[in-house]
Formats: sequence, C-alpha cells, structure tokens
Amino acid sequence: MSELRLEDYDLLLIDLDGVVWLRNEPIAGAVETLNRIHDGEKIEIRFVTNNSTRHRKEVAETLRRIGIRWAEQYHVITSASTLADLSSVIGIERCFIVGEQGLLMELEEEGVDIGGKGDVCVGMDRNFNYQKLTTALRNILAGGLFLATNEDRTFPTPDGPIPGAGSMVSAISGACGRPPDIVIGKPNPIMFLRISIQTGAKRPLVIGDRIETDVLGALRAGMDSALVLTGAAKDLREVKPRPKYVLRSLRDLLKSGE
Ligand SMILES: [Mg+2]
Repeated sequence: MSELRLEDYDLLLIDLDGVVWLRNEPIAGAVETLNRIHDGEKIEIRFVTNNSTRHRKEVAETLRRIGIRWAEQYHVITSASTLADLSSVIGIERCFIVGEQGLLMELEEEGVDIGGKGDVCVGMDRNFNYQKLTTALRNILAGGLFLATNEDRTFPTPDGPIPGAGSMVSAISGACGRPPDIVIGKPNPIMFLRISIQTGAKRPLVIGDRIETDVLGALRAGMDSALVLTGAAKDLREVKPRPKYVLRSLRDLLKSGE
C-alpha cells in the first residue's frame, strides 16, 4: 500500500456516512482534521454522498453543527443535487418522484415540474407504497425515463439497516422489466467527474468507507482512492478493487502530510 502525501492532491472528495460521522455523531478526529486541511488553503474539500433524502443546505447545517464551521451548501454534493443539476442535460422537464424532501426540493429548484407526469426520479422513500409503484410503472411504460439517484440496497440506522434507494429501484425495475436508464450515485463516476470539472481540479482523491461505492467509483472515474476503516469496511483480506491507500481514520491524512 502506498504512502499518502496530501500535497500530491488538490481536491478531496469525501464521503460522509462512516467517514465524517456515524449515526449523526462525528467520528473521532474527523472535524479537527478537516478544519486543519481547510485552514491550510491548499486543497479543495467537497462532501459527496449517495443519500438523496436531505437537501444540501440541511447537510451543510449538520456539518456546521458538528464543528465544520466553514461548510456551505456548495461544499456538499448529493445524488439528488446531481440529478437535478443534470436535469437539463438529460432533458427532464416533468417528473414523478419516488423519494423524500431532498430530491423533491433539488428538482423543483432546477425548475422541473414535479407534478407527477413524465420521467420517474427515484431515491430512498420511507413512504414508498403500491400506489407510487403503480404510477412509476405507468409513467415508464408511457415512455418516461427511469432515473435513479443511487442503488444502495440498505441504509444504516442506529436500530439496524433499513431499505435504501436500491430497494425502491428494484421494485420499479421488477414491475417495468428493465433496469434504470441512468444511475447517478456511486459507484457511477458522474458525481466525482462533475465536481472535478467544476472545481478545475487536476489531482482529486476520493475518500470513503465502502469498497463497492467509493473505491469502485474512484476507479471508474480514473481517480486515486483512500479507504477509511471507521465505517463499513473492516476486513481488508478480500478487498477488490484495491484502494491506493488505507487509513485508520481521517486523522491519518495529517500524519501523512507531516
Ligand atoms: Mg459511507
């Protein structure tokens, strides 16, 4: 495994769950580390999450509350904000949403008519039901695009996992007989590539706790990755694909730069 030198990078693409916080509680050392890197003013930091349920503004508020005081909406990129950001590229004018407030607000802010006709935009939805499944099916059969924020099968909570966006996507796929036309979230590289273009970064580093989303997404984007062991990944014997670096926690970022 390589030795990480922070000065080799100009952009950190940092996952949230299992890296910065766990169950809304900050992970030891994460806040101080991120503040010190930010104060160094040499490296851009962006938080990249598949979670589509909350608007970026709300995520930034949570980041400030745990002590990352400089966090603004533009530091946060979610699968929902990216889908909304790409709505004009994809050609989404009207849509039916299976999803929560974050996805709804992001699409509405981009001027998409969320009245229920047209394409189908799918994220995690804790009020998913048979009626929504029926509407999604009929819209897709009528020619609507099937757009998924992400395909995470589960979502971690203090009481154990709950069905994630991937469960809603699978139900709709099962009904209409085909996979989504576009999936925005990791391991697809769309978010990583888009942020790199927008920031003009030349040497981004992806940091996350999941092999199957963060590390694989980095590989697909052609970027280096660092796996942190404060979240999902614990056992490194069967790790594929391999991250370039393994960190016990975000704190190791500073040790490597000194
Ligand atoms: Mg994570």
